[in-house]
This record gives sequence, structure tokens and C-alpha cells, in this order.
Amino acid sequence: MELWYTEEHTENVRFSIKIKKQLYSANSPYQKIDVFDSEEFGRFFTLDGLMMVTEKDEFIYHDMIVHVPMAAKPDTKKVLVIGGGDGGTVRELTRYSSIEEIHMVEIDKMVVDVCREFLPQTALKLDDPRVSLYFEDGLKFVRSRQNEYDLIIVDSTDPFGPGEGLFTKEFYGNCFKALSEEGILVNQHESPYYQSYANAMKRAHKRIKEYFPNCRVYQAHIPTYPSGHWLFGFASKKVDPILDLDAEKWNSLGIETKYYNTELHKGSFALPNYVKEMIEYE
Ligand code: SAM
Repeated sequence: MELWYTEEHTENVRFSIKIKKQLYSANSPYQKIDVFDSEEFGRFFTLDGLMMVTEKDEFIYHDMIVHVPMAAKPDTKKVLVIGGGDGGTVRELTRYSSIEEIHMVEIDKMVVDVCREFLPQTALKLDDPRVSLYFEDGLKFVRSRQNEYDLIIVDSTDPFGPGEGLFTKEFYGNCFKALSEEGILVNQHESPYYQSYANAMKRAHKRIKEYFPNCRVYQAHIPTYPSGHWLFGFASKKVDPILDLDAEKWNSLGIETKYYNTELHKGSFALPNYVKEMIEYE
């Protein structure tokens, strides 16, 4: 008998992956966690029936959420990751010897435990000595932080359930406060293509813009996320992601990547007209 994982991307669209086996299923205090194995995407895990990470395409998301801000500000020393329980974002950050401290705030310890067991490909650097793990709500965590981080990466779930607070005005204001003078905020910014994701993206962008003078959106192609077209938000008090990109410097670091390169860095900020209209809509 064939087994299929199916996710509803809209009321009228479903996305399915043929699976070899379900490896894990449990409810944490926050969400339902499932792990599957598949021929096409390898192992993958979902939260409340929504795709988080697959072994085959996770490099795209993690390259873009980490190397874009790191290439724009290579002297980054202290980083806060909010969410990111699979460890992929931390893994990419640990490749920079210049980074001294990484705080990761994940609300759900079970996600980290499950990923350590079933997805070692992403979780393998969570024990790096520069990494401190906090199992708390990121919304609350940033309230008490001031002028502390050079980079905040919001690697969250979508804006409902535990992730809802990470798309609020209060949260973005506290991130602004928690960042150093040249600090950068990067967040997973949903998809522009289907209406409900696009609405969430527009709301988030508008709220971030209220605090940060430099506020841009960049894109990547992620096959297993709704529509495959995914956005990231880049916001900073001072840093411009294109003008401040020192391609030579980043290339001299010798960090090997499967998706990111400094040409693509610049190109990823060139948005289709329909997306430009959405984010310049006020
Ligand atoms: N790459 C993924 C995506 O865009 O689908 C995100 C993956 S990562 C696993 C998302 C993590 O954010 C989850 O593990 C979830 O538990 C965590 N999270 C959700 N709300 C949170 C909150 N308020 N504070 C901290 N972590 C949160």
C-alpha cells in the first residue's frame, strides 16, 4: 500500500510526498510533531501538519537565512536565533569563526530532542561551545534585552499557534531595542503567492518598517514550502544588504555553500513586480 504525506496549502491546493515510513509522532505541550522518511526528500519533519525541514531542500532555507546577513555584516559577533529548533540555522552560523556567541531561544524542547534523534544533519552543531539554548517563548525573551545582539534571526513557524507573537509590533520593537547600533533582523517572511501567506507577509513587513529605517525583502525557491516561492525580511538600523555587501571578503572566508553565493545575494533582492507592489502598498 502506498503512503502519502499531504499538506493543505490553501483550501483548494494540496501538496503530497510519497513516504516510505512514519518515524515519529507525538504531541508536545505546544504542537504535534511528526517525522517521516521519503524517497524524494529524505527525512522531513512537520509541526501541526506543516512542513518545517526536509533533508533534501533545507540547505536553501538555512543558507539564505544565515549567509545573507552574515555577508552584509561579517564582523557579527553575537547572534540570537528565535525558534530554529531543528538546528539548521545554528549549524550555518557556527561556520563563522568570527561569531563568539549564539543564543537560541526555542519554545518547544521536544522539537530539539526529536531533531537531535531523527535529523542529525541539521541538529549536529547545537552542542558547539558558543551555543546557549534557552527553552522559552522568544516574545518574552527579547523583552528584557537591550543593545546586545549584532544579528537576530527569527526562524519561526507561521503566525498562528506558538509563533503568533513573533509577528507582532511589540516583538519587532523589542528586537529593535535588543540589537546593537549596526544590528540586523532577519526573519522568515512567508510566501507572497497564496493570499493567506501574502497577508501575513504584508502585515509583518509593515510592522517591521515602523521601527527599522532599512527594510528589505529577499527571496528563494524552496520546493517544499507553499508555492515554492519564499521570502525573507532583512531589517537594519544602518546596514544596507547590497551596498554593504563585501563580496571579496565573504568569498575569502572559504565557506562552501550549495545555494548561496554573492551574485545570488544581490539578485535575491530583485523582486517580481507583484511582490514589490505588495510591500510598497502603503
Ligand atoms: N524552517 C521552518 C519554516 O519556516 O517552516 C521553521 C523551522 S523551526 C523548527 C520553527 C520553530 O519555531 C519551531 O520549532 C517552534 O517550536 C519555534 N517557535 C514557535 N513559536 C515560538 C516562540 N514564540 N518562541 C520560540 N520559538 C518558537
